[in-house]
Amino acid sequence: MMETSEPAGAGALFGMAPEELRALAEALGLPRYRATQMADALYRQRVSGLEQMTTLPAEVRERLAAEGYAVGLPEMVQTARSVDGTERYLMRMADGETVETVWMPGGDGGERGDGSEAAEEEAGEVGDAEDAAEWKKGKYRGPLTRAYALAQDDGKDSDGDSGRARGAVQNDERKEGGYKRATICISSQVGCAVNCQFCLTAKLGVRRNLTAGEIAGQVAAVLNRQKVRIGSGKGVETPSRINLVFMGMGEPFLNYDALMKAVHLLRGMGIPESRMTVSTSGIEPSIRRFALEPVRPKLALSLNAPNDAIRREVMPVTKKWNIAALLEALGTIPFGKREYVTFEYVLLGGVNDQPEHAREVLDLLRGMKAKVNLIVWNPGPGIAYRQPKPEDVAVFHRMLVEGGVPTFTRRPRGRDIYAACGQLKRTVETEPLVEIASAP
Ligand code: SAH
Ligand code: SF4
Repeated sequence: MMETSEPAGAGALFGMAPEELRALAEALGLPRYRATQMADALYRQRVSGLEQMTTLPAEVRERLAAEGYAVGLPEMVQTARSVDGTERYLMRMADGETVETVWMPGGDGGERGDGSEAAEEEAGEVGDAEDAAEWKKGKYRGPLTRAYALAQDDGKDSDGDSGRARGAVQNDERKEGGYKRATICISSQVGCAVNCQFCLTAKLGVRRNLTAGEIAGQVAAVLNRQKVRIGSGKGVETPSRINLVFMGMGEPFLNYDALMKAVHLLRGMGIPESRMTVSTSGIEPSIRRFALEPVRPKLALSLNAPNDAIRREVMPVTKKWNIAALLEALGTIPFGKREYVTFEYVLLGGVNDQPEHAREVLDLLRGMKAKVNLIVWNPGPGIAYRQPKPEDVAVFHRMLVEGGVPTFTRRPRGRDIYAACGQLKRTVETEPLVEIASAP
């Protein structure tokens, strides 16, 4: 069910925490268990309209509607599908603002770039037991030959040496050990205020924060479209393994309260926080708050430079909090035994991708249980960087690995539909988006 007949701007039920639903039930003079039924319908069944809340009597549904309430999921208005199976959606919020959400079926394949420990599991699950063992020992070298292939990739699915991974990507329905796996990349703000020089989203500036319901609602809308069932309850034959990355539009740590509320709602939808990765450009006070959270998703820091001088150029936010301050804040997080601190590193040709830069990165990360996700920069209109040379990517990757840092080069997903990292910009008019009605 894609569209609902809900009035725009109605009070959204989706996004209300269980205790808020209880308060609502009370205010409407309904028994407490009605709140439990509403929560179940919203977050377990993921209904898209009040009429689907069939556990509630019709008069209660009518009452809710009369009071101005609706489910209020973001509306998926347009979609584009990549040759690699990635789908990009334009999601419209009640006030007409739009953000983008990306569905990446089949996990991240060889490059395991989603920033989660799924990397390790995946190495095992797809049959690379040796890779997995190496990874555990922190000696994983990664498929170096692939770095060449992917850096030469022009948006097609080229996995270099891995025919297996290629097949997997093209088959959405791939099941591994009974699991269907996918990663959903979600937005946290409309636009972004951080102004990283290499990122297309930055060009928008920030228009507003998303609410918790709008953040978690992107996930519900995508899962509904993909008919994904989560959990292992009765009637669920194929529980799905869904990873979430907060790596779409916006800086999640500049919308901290809504982000954390969304994390709790998403847990209520059956996705554990261990399968969520929040990526931040480095908002130091939020990192310190995050360190104190009892429920904590994984965290990735977008390092993107080997020293403050280069980072100030590519990420002006560094003037506010430098690398040392960020590493210190990261140090306050009580990481578990098996947890790594993940650093994202966008390789910008000639800027931060040289051997001396790799050596500096190793110096920075010395003594930390760190892993690095390298991302080959994705071009965008009006951005004056160039892509790194494939051989520079490979050398950089190898140097980090040889320096003892588990390193993965992320395979760009959906470049042909502008769905890859840093390419999300709501440019509806100019890009090959397909009206939802005619989408596959
Ligand atoms: N605002 C958060 C999360 C969204 S950006 C952050 O910056 O971390 C997610 C990732 O995409 C970040 O690591 C960012 O550095 C990277 N990125 C941005 N623009 C990119 C581009 N054009 N090519 C490749 N990666 C990019
Ligand atoms: Fe914002 Fe992240 Fe893009 Fe920087 S990279 S402008 S923080 S979305």
